[in-house]
Amino acid sequence: MADTFDAVVVGAGPNGLAAAVTLARAGLKVRVYEQAATIGGGARSAELTLEGFVHDVCSAVHPMALASPFFQAFELQKRIHLLVPEVSFGHPLDGGRAGIAYRDLERTAAGLGRDGGAYRALYAPLVRMLDGVTDFTQNQLLRMPRHPLAAAVYGLRTLEQGSPLWNARFREDVAPAMISGVNAHALGRMPRLASAGAGMLLGAHAHGRGWPVPVGGSQAIVDAMADDLRAHGGDIVLDTMVASTAQLRAATRAKALLLDVSAQALADIAGAELPAAYLRSLASFRYGNGACKVDFALSGPVPWTNPELAQAPTVHLGGSRGALARSEAEVAAGKHPSNPYVLLSQPSTLDPSRAPSGQGVLWTYCHVPAGSTVDMAEAVVRQIERFAPGFRDVILATNTITAEQYSRYNPNYIGGDFSAGALTLPQLIKRPVVSTNPWKTPADGVYLCSSSTPPGPAVHGLCGWFAARGALHDVFGLAAPALGLS
Ligand SMILES: Cc1cc2nc3c(=O)[nH]c(=O)nc-3n(C[C@H](O)[C@H](O)[C@H](O)COP(=O)(O)OP(=O)(O)OC[C@H]3O[C@@H](n4cnc5c(N)ncnc54)[C@H](O)[C@@H]3O)c2cc1C
Repeated sequence: MADTFDAVVVGAGPNGLAAAVTLARAGLKVRVYEQAATIGGGARSAELTLEGFVHDVCSAVHPMALASPFFQAFELQKRIHLLVPEVSFGHPLDGGRAGIAYRDLERTAAGLGRDGGAYRALYAPLVRMLDGVTDFTQNQLLRMPRHPLAAAVYGLRTLEQGSPLWNARFREDVAPAMISGVNAHALGRMPRLASAGAGMLLGAHAHGRGWPVPVGGSQAIVDAMADDLRAHGGDIVLDTMVASTAQLRAATRAKALLLDVSAQALADIAGAELPAAYLRSLASFRYGNGACKVDFALSGPVPWTNPELAQAPTVHLGGSRGALARSEAEVAAGKHPSNPYVLLSQPSTLDPSRAPSGQGVLWTYCHVPAGSTVDMAEAVVRQIERFAPGFRDVILATNTITAEQYSRYNPNYIGGDFSAGALTLPQLIKRPVVSTNPWKTPADGVYLCSSSTPPGPAVHGLCGWFAARGALHDVFGLAAPALGLS
């Protein structure tokens, strides 16, 4: 006879595991199926280059984990060692200049010359009302904000930095470049409201709770969740691709099925149980461009022209605000930028466990058109050399993952879009359908819990947490459980 379970989760990414932990903590018998040979989805770490060099395969820096109400309830900071740096990010410009975003907003502003006051005025209210801003952006946009003032201030700043007015308050080039470096995390043309919205939130956290890096890599986060799941009776079955809800129901008799899959995969897996109008809505959900990731094993630190960048675990490369906008516009037009915007993380500056003594790992990626098979390693190395001449001499080994390879690595990354759905203003509201409960599908007991649902991408576990709380209430009549250690 088949094993029976109360609830099954498909996908052991951060959201799938957050759902599974929540369900298991409520006393349900839970099983997770994962198609890959290891757990973690976008939060795996592995020796991608040389033995002894631990790289984050996808995510590396975790402001959203620190900010997440799920991870706060889960007491993540008591379970793993999250290192919160004094410098959230750095942004070099030509001529050895750099903007340094300290967690301390005053100190940051003091380094920005004539634009220090304008930069401070942009972020200070957001930092002051950080919990309200975070709540507004992480809980879903289709409800009355719990902190209307925070939501209004955040909205006005997003309007400003997402519009042609974005330079109005600045007189020099460093502060605008820093802001665009953060906004460009949300892939797409700039200025643009969706990028500015994501950027204002990330920027506020840079000067609030900070941009932490986990000791041992992102894998530590998902391992902590898997440990908790198993401690509460759950299990995880690896190397198993789930193709249909009918197959799952027959194998497990589960009353609740939570899918940490893309909206497109939801249509494939549960299509037979979903009404035509809902399937049409899933089919109209759009996927964005992709990422090409280049990891390096290094014999020593990056030889930054500006030595302050050695203290920055995260660095944004590409130059001025205008140059970043041009790079993003090229990607939006289906081209590979020759002067790419590069996100760079140097975790070894904080966490010596990632590489043999005195050596280091370096994590970078740049944006590329969907489905790209182009290896951007040379363009990325040129971009780093521009601000760190001699960088080539410290490279021991390189590993590239193209956008096309990402789409095979993880079925959620359609065309290499690791957001599981383009981050556009309409798709912040329609994710993947317009609903006050977008996690619940019309199929009996079937919930979508991936970043194709609100609040979207990043390692925060919230899509899984919201979906699981809905399933507990609707299917089992249970309240949300406590998640902490005590
Ligand atoms: C290069 C890169 C850099 C990033 N950087 C950051 C960062 O620094 N900070 C940050 O917060 N976020 C970052 N992200 C984004 C972050 O990784 C994702 O938003 C997050 O992992 C989404 O979590 P998820 O659980 O929804 O999906 P995923 O992490 O994608 O997990 C989904 C899981 O489901 C499995 N699965 C899918 N379909 C099936 C199926 N049919 N059957 C069985 N299993 C299935 C997949 O194999 C996968 O393990 C980055 C992503 C990439 C790729």
